[in-house]
Amino acid sequence: MTTGTMKAVVLREIGTPLKIETLPIPQPKRGEVLIRVTACGVCHSDLHAVDGDWSPLPNLPLIPGHEVVGTVSALGEGVEHFAEGDAIGVPWMYSACGHCEFCLSGMETICLKAEATGYSKPGGYAEYMIADAAFCGRVPTGVDPYELAPILCAGVTTYRGLKRTNVKPGQWLTVLGIGGLGHIAVQYARAMGMRVAAVDVSDDKLALAKSYGAELLVNASKADPGPEIRNAIGGTHGAVVTAVSAKAFEQSVGVLRNGGTVCWIGLPGGKQDEIRMTISGIVNGEMSVRGSNVGTRQDMQEAIDFAANGLVTAKIEKQPLDAINEIFARMKKGQINGRVVLALQ
Ligand code: NAD
Ligand code: ZN
Ligand code: ZN
Repeated sequence: MTTGTMKAVVLREIGTPLKIETLPIPQPKRGEVLIRVTACGVCHSDLHAVDGDWSPLPNLPLIPGHEVVGTVSALGEGVEHFAEGDAIGVPWMYSACGHCEFCLSGMETICLKAEATGYSKPGGYAEYMIADAAFCGRVPTGVDPYELAPILCAGVTTYRGLKRTNVKPGQWLTVLGIGGLGHIAVQYARAMGMRVAAVDVSDDKLALAKSYGAELLVNASKADPGPEIRNAIGGTHGAVVTAVSAKAFEQSVGVLRNGGTVCWIGLPGGKQDEIRMTISGIVNGEMSVRGSNVGTRQDMQEAIDFAANGLVTAKIEKQPLDAINEIFARMKKGQINGRVVLALQ
């Protein structure tokens, strides 16, 4: 038994600053594990949660955080595939029902009864957290837990999004938005054999994309990415949008060559949730627009394997738990290059 108290970042009211509180360490029930958190990445989704950008709103009081790597500290009844002391990862998908048509057909990402870590359930901005053992990731030995944390959301999400574009090795892909998700998307795309065009509004972020092998860079604050990319290479076969801006979604079909697929991943929310596009832009070139929501457990395990094999490495900046309000302020201004990871140990 692990008892006593823990430090956690808590949101009590939407739109108010987060506070550090001392809370009792939760106890695992049947099928659950208690995790001592080592590292938790700060995803823009956490900021959307705190700002109330999405409907439904998160459950309050909220402990955000869903890019967790830690060690198993206690096992609930019936948990047999983890042992105390094991390294473990926790993603956004806290659980899914396991018996609906989506769960049964390998699409648990769209289960209507799914719960979300750090949104409907308490997350990893805390020294300890509870997770559903059936939905946690196995962490291979020897992997840096701080570098691995962003793979639990930014990694698995972009990995699945890239697969959903159906772009093949040797073909071109555009990543719009080179933030926490995007800088990892560029690396997965390269590891999957794609040629990459990168779009952002910051030259620093484009330089980061270039360092991972992006061959074509467009600063969307200076030029429209569609004409730029079509003029240079005739458009890309696929695209993923991870930008927190409606404009990037409006521009995303324009970067495609005919027959291309764009996969939308970002969720700007609020007033940025609506966009204007032309019907002809999609019909005439037989374009496809798809959504992609985090990843299945199998996607997660594959995404972890890419990182464990050194094919993908998040660029991280470690920060303590009590820096969270400053981290969110910087994230709002686009001043984070790569991912901030809260270091709890
Ligand atoms: P981030 O803040 O780290 O990165 C956002 C990036 O978008 C920044 O680099 C910024 O410069 C760039 N950007 C802003 N305006 C742009 C424009 N007009 N054109 C191109 N780039 C622009 O955010 P993040 O953590 O990478 O998250 C990105 C989005 O993905 C968020 O909305 C988040 O909620 C969402 N998300 C979705 C899923 C999912 O399952 N679908 C999972 C995780 C995150
Ligand atoms: Zn996330
Ligand atoms: Zn289900």
